[in-house]
Amino acid sequence: MTDFLISLAWFLLFAGGGIYLAYQRVDLRTSTIAAGLALLAYTIFGGGWWLWLVVLWALFGLMIIPNLVELRREKITKPLLDVYRKMLPSMSDTEREALEAGNVWWDGELFSGMPEWDRLMRFPAPQLSEEEQAFLDGPCEELCRMLDDWEICHEHGDMPKEVWDYIIEHRFFAMIIPKQYGGLEFSAYANAMVIAKLAGRSATASSTIGVPNSLGPAELLLHYGTEEQKNHYLPGLAAGTEIPCFALTSTEAGSDAASLIDNGVVCKGKWNGKTITGIRLNWSKRYITLAPVATVVGLAFKLYDPDHLIGDKDEYGITAALIPTDTPGVTVGRRHYPMTVPFQNGPTEGKDVFVPLDVIIGGQEMAGRGWKMLVELLSVGRAITLPSTAAGGGQAASYATGAYARIRRQFNTSIANFEGVGEALTRIAGYTYIMNSAVSVTAGAIDQGEKPAVPSAILKYHCTELGRKVSVDTMDVHGGKAICLGPSNYVGRNYMASPIAITVEGANILTRSLIIYGQGAVRCHPFVLPEMHAASDEDSDRGLIDFDRALFGHIGYAISNLARSFFLALTHAKFSRVPLNTPTRRYYQNINRYSAAFALASDFAMLTLGGALKKRELLSARLGDVLSSMYLASCVLKHFEDQGRRATDLPLVEWSVRTLMYQAQEALHAFLRNFPNRWVAGFLRVFIFPRGRTYSAPSDELAQKVVELVTRTGEARERLSQQAYTTLEPGNPLGLLQEALELSEKFAPMERRLKQALREGLISAEYLGDQIGEAAKAGVISKKEADELRDYHEKVRALLAVDDFAPDEFGRQSQEPRDVQVAAAKKKPVARKKTAKKKAKKKASKK
Ligand SMILES: Cc1cc2nc3c(=O)[nH]c(=O)nc-3n(C[C@H](O)[C@H](O)[C@H](O)COP(=O)(O)OP(=O)(O)OC[C@H]3O[C@@H](n4cnc5c(N)ncnc54)[C@H](O)[C@@H]3O)c2cc1C
Repeated sequence: MTDFLISLAWFLLFAGGGIYLAYQRVDLRTSTIAAGLALLAYTIFGGGWWLWLVVLWALFGLMIIPNLVELRREKITKPLLDVYRKMLPSMSDTEREALEAGNVWWDGELFSGMPEWDRLMRFPAPQLSEEEQAFLDGPCEELCRMLDDWEICHEHGDMPKEVWDYIIEHRFFAMIIPKQYGGLEFSAYANAMVIAKLAGRSATASSTIGVPNSLGPAELLLHYGTEEQKNHYLPGLAAGTEIPCFALTSTEAGSDAASLIDNGVVCKGKWNGKTITGIRLNWSKRYITLAPVATVVGLAFKLYDPDHLIGDKDEYGITAALIPTDTPGVTVGRRHYPMTVPFQNGPTEGKDVFVPLDVIIGGQEMAGRGWKMLVELLSVGRAITLPSTAAGGGQAASYATGAYARIRRQFNTSIANFEGVGEALTRIAGYTYIMNSAVSVTAGAIDQGEKPAVPSAILKYHCTELGRKVSVDTMDVHGGKAICLGPSNYVGRNYMASPIAITVEGANILTRSLIIYGQGAVRCHPFVLPEMHAASDEDSDRGLIDFDRALFGHIGYAISNLARSFFLALTHAKFSRVPLNTPTRRYYQNINRYSAAFALASDFAMLTLGGALKKRELLSARLGDVLSSMYLASCVLKHFEDQGRRATDLPLVEWSVRTLMYQAQEALHAFLRNFPNRWVAGFLRVFIFPRGRTYSAPSDELAQKVVELVTRTGEARERLSQQAYTTLEPGNPLGLLQEALELSEKFAPMERRLKQALREGLISAEYLGDQIGEAAKAGVISKKEADELRDYHEKVRALLAVDDFAPDEFGRQSQEPRDVQVAAAKKKPVARKKTAKKKAKKKASKK
């Protein structure tokens, strides 16, 4: 028995020590020394069987080999490098440029399996400058007041002229343009806050303003334009005398944008009366935002030089240029009609448009560099416009739906009190908190100089998906009121607009299936890109040295992730390091756990599937989901700190992180469940889920706390919808709903008195209006109280009201009424015809 216990103790020492060294990522040399010392101690004091000792020392001998760098390089790395080079899938320039766009930030830490939290926490909380705050409180607030979404969407099919003028006058289109050119030069954070505020009020306005401030001519010029081009265009773009659009998509090239066939051929032609070398362009683009009103098109096309007029290449590839829309051969003006949201969007065509070479952004030397420009800029832009639009929509939805659910009564109580409604309300508020956090933290990082390509794709996909879910729940909670469009429907149009954000800037299915993990795996992995670079290094000696370093680093990393994943899962990560000892500490630990599990699963997927992983889109998408959940959960924790760690927000933080980490667990499970190599899947399951799937989704009790927070007045509710336009004024549903919510809380005690009086038989009327009168008469409430209560109920009734229309208010082209049509079909004379004509005459005379 004693011998057994001693052997067990030695075993635990070796196993525990090994796990500890791997868990802490202790380097190979130190680990070898530690193993040697432990083995020596066991040889002297352990009393082990001699054959067993020989085996252990032989194993130790194997462990020494990788420490002999020259030897391992020649005997191990070199043959492996030859195999690796043969396996390495060829990569086009387009793919390489997409991969190398932007930089690696917090996403890299999550990929490491051992996130260094300080790298995230040391970022300052994003702040608005005084000027930016004044813009939000001044012109932005005023613009919100001017926007009447019904008028825009239904009556004009466009924003009224005074709104366009206001936008231009106050340089809403120039948020990203530096002051030296007359722009506002706002931070990414301020840009996001402005878009978020507008998005809650009018999708038409936020889309119109979003485009010139994201990927478009101004952004391209700022990064790649020549001084001459900047001086020529930027002042006009800032002043609004130039309206830009950016045209990439065409019929052939949608998601596969690089496959465009729009082309420019270098040739001689006439320009201002002289013969010059220029480009003859032909294009046919669709879905282009602002194209119908644009004065300058940022155009992506493929450049050819068959006569070698500018160099010795036949084909230069995708090129970006700025083409004034008044150039002969350019057509703009026609419009698409995206989901009844009438922001200016339409096709543009160019037929034999001849332009000089200096229309190429950055000049002739940037010919063929268009794709690189686009992916570089998208790596930042994707994190701002669409995510902040979704967050702004979520803020307005949370504010409105929380109040609406409180004032709308069914079965004698607020619908907010029903658990089913509460479930939808919790999602609305929780998802909004996640979107707010993601936008704020990522925009803050961009302002600190990061260009986070993978987080940008995460934000684009997840914020727009969460935004769509929020709009669906908002519809459900509002019931019929949300369905019937009209001036008093403040939710239907956002619901209709939500698929637009899903589709643009990389349609979401593609973004999830290919981009988030596809880009992330290679980009963020600490060793994959260095291995690829080393393998393709033309200097083979240097390539071997670099590959060797990366390969052995990679092996150590994989061993460490095995140990970390297993230990953290076994202990529920209770002992893992956290940056802060606060009520949220467990969530940091859970992210640590999933980071290790994700890194492990990711490595085995790449190792066993190689290039085929790209085609197994669902596996790749699920790994992307895990990465995204961790990224978004980290943003939630950081946002909570950035906002001053307010205890009242804790239910939102807990619900959000729990939801995200539960999703991470389920995505990993689904990944293992579908992994083609069942042996590897079984092996990974032991290290990732040694205790099964133990993480639970948020409880109903926690959800109830979120419901209370969003359906009652208070600082947490206000903070959640910080950017929303909530001014109390006629025509602003958010302000009016908040007023009604405040009144509902004020009058709750009075209403309880009324109920009590009803139970005691002091009043008996069935309808509330009559009950108030009776109660005043019976002295249950005073006359003043009765008047106030009536006034409050009038306000509620107005908010619950749904629009209706006269039959002839529908449609833009008049036609015969239905009975006239029926009669005409039966070839009967109809009396009504006269009436219809009379009506038309009356209308005309009124005008
Ligand atoms: C309102 C609106 C505004 C727009 N504004 C602009 C603009 O200003 N400038 C501009 O250049 N373009 C603009 N676009 C175009 C937009 O970027 C494209 O619609 C988008 O790239 C998708 O292309 P597509 O519509 O042709 O869809 P398709 O490419 O036909 O895709 C159809 C579906 O297949 C999926 N899919 C495609 N490939 C894959 C894959 N490999 N794996 C998984 N799924 C895949 C997509 O995710 C999508 O769900 C706009 C579009 C709209 C609707």
